[in-house]
Amino acid sequence: MVGFDADDTLWRSEDFFEEAQDRYEDIVGRYIDLSDSTAREQLYGIETANLKVFGYGVKSMTLSMIEAAVLLTEGRIDGADVHRIVQIGKDMLVHPVELLDGVTEAVEEVARRFPVVLITKGDLIHQESKVRASGLSSTFSRIEIVSEKDPQTYTRVLRELEVEPGQFVMVGNSVRSDITPVLTLGGWGVHIPYHLTWQHEVQAEPPSDGDLPRMRTLASMRELPETLTALTDSSPA
Ligand SMILES: [Mg+2]
Repeated sequence: MVGFDADDTLWRSEDFFEEAQDRYEDIVGRYIDLSDSTAREQLYGIETANLKVFGYGVKSMTLSMIEAAVLLTEGRIDGADVHRIVQIGKDMLVHPVELLDGVTEAVEEVARRFPVVLITKGDLIHQESKVRASGLSSTFSRIEIVSEKDPQTYTRVLRELEVEPGQFVMVGNSVRSDITPVLTLGGWGVHIPYHLTWQHEVQAEPPSDGDLPRMRTLASMRELPETLTALTDSSPA
């Protein structure tokens, strides 16, 4: 079975978060001098603390931007600007899905040979609408939208899918969320880095040396089908 991550694996996502952050800074920058401030670090600190309360995704980030704007401006931000921050979040939620190069062909080819599932975190309603807009929803036998991608979550999902970790390959752009937890369980990981990585995902425990033989790193989704062929040929299972 092959599991796919969604954001920055199938379609662009982090680019839009960075654009949103720039728009947020344009707004807050009218109140305080951002040139030598730690505004970005403060926003990231609030976002990280809020993950435990709000979870991942655009709505969580929007609330964090509002909270950070109020704190950084010491309460001076006016209602119209708070509304502009809300609009940044809404614009992200309705942004058209932009599939990455070669994704449709690669996923469809893999799906002809293996059961494929989608495992992603983020806002339920946002992820569901992106899956629908991607044109790939019928290709995946199951779509799992989870609140965290850790070994416990993968253990639960794999048990529900009735697949042994050694028979499971996870494909994704985040070592922290897509690769390391699956390798830890004895599964396989195909890392396809994206040109941008959210700070939170960079802070990762690297896979342990003993797990590295079950990891591959590709430059593009186009290399995935032949990589899976090589893996199934080399795996005794
Ligand atoms: Mg991702």
